[in-house]
Amino acid sequence: MEACLREQGLTDSPAFIVDETAIRKSLRDLAELREESGCKVLYSMKALPLQPVVELAAQELDGISVSSLFEARLARECIGADGSIHLTSPGLRNGEFAELSKLCSHISFNSPGQWQTLAAKGGEYSPGLRINPKLSFLSDLRFDPCRPHSKLGIDIELLDQLDWAGDVEGLHFHTVFSCQDFSPLLRTMEKISKALSKQASALKWLNLGGGYLFSQIEDKGAFVQLVKALKGDFALDVYIEPGKDIVGRAGYLCTRVIDRFDSDGKTVLIVDSTVNHHPEIFEYQRAAELLNPQQGEVPVILAGSSCLAGDLFGEYRFDKTPEIGERIVFKNLGAYSLIKANRFNGYNLPTIYNWDGKNLMQLKQDDYQDYRKQWRVGG
Ligand SMILES: *Cc1c(COP(=O)(O)O)cnc(C)c1O
Repeated sequence: MEACLREQGLTDSPAFIVDETAIRKSLRDLAELREESGCKVLYSMKALPLQPVVELAAQELDGISVSSLFEARLARECIGADGSIHLTSPGLRNGEFAELSKLCSHISFNSPGQWQTLAAKGGEYSPGLRINPKLSFLSDLRFDPCRPHSKLGIDIELLDQLDWAGDVEGLHFHTVFSCQDFSPLLRTMEKISKALSKQASALKWLNLGGGYLFSQIEDKGAFVQLVKALKGDFALDVYIEPGKDIVGRAGYLCTRVIDRFDSDGKTVLIVDSTVNHHPEIFEYQRAAELLNPQQGEVPVILAGSSCLAGDLFGEYRFDKTPEIGERIVFKNLGAYSLIKANRFNGYNLPTIYNWDGKNLMQLKQDDYQDYRKQWRVGG
């Protein structure tokens, strides 16, 4: 990325660069995992629903995983009539279901009620249930699908009481986030295997969800074994649906310093972006990673341009205080950034570029008209 920025003369700021070479690398790793284990891989497009990314993922993988009508529509537009689209959501709406059931090849219902009322409407898709294994692996309840009183999936203990065999072809679960080892998956499978083996002959597929950084986990042996055993014992298709693993390391936010001053003895640099371009920085209160981190003597606070006092990218140590006009680049924010970005305070969204290893190409640039369209009433 340094070479790209040095040689390509990027002038727009802020800019969001999609590193296609990094996406291709993750897709190759996943293709290898698919080859070794026999699992099928979907791209969970909610992480970054940018058309070229969805198209590239669909070309290399087995389909797209979506959460809503708009995602399903865009996915279908991107991948054409034949590709698989898998949906699960606690937010299925009655009035949208007819269209969804045509757009999607697989639908996992989130509750007994939705399954009973919506599945009765018929359709060509393969019906499934999202189950909740009730095994927590996350300390922050806000991100734990298995928290007490969870809204996500049917409690595994209740599954036995539902008469689903015959009407349901698949089961789905998704319980972790940014996970770097497979032990939660193994423990989850252990817990649900009893329920599974009772009904497995009725099932055609099992979706293990996303949340694992599959391509960053060195030893994939346990996963490969698990998938092979599932396929061997129950003769079903096993899916995974990563999002962040595919795009997380493929996003860079390029900003420029527009002001600097001292505040209570520390240097504050204002950049021409804001944490509203990657709200998880604020949500998790975790500093954004610099492309070129330094360990120098100069403490610097990198702050966004909005009126929010806590609009801060983080505190860093530089060798020397960056000048006004200097570029500051943050890395590893390809997932859950642009999709959550907003125009708070009226700041434009970053211009989007693609880097294919040779050329830096502008894909999309918003301007005042986009802001105006959002907020003007009656044109
Ligand atoms: C968000 C989500 C994913 C993708 O999660 P990542 O952490 O980006 O891999 C997959 N499946 C479901 C049901 C999800 O909600």
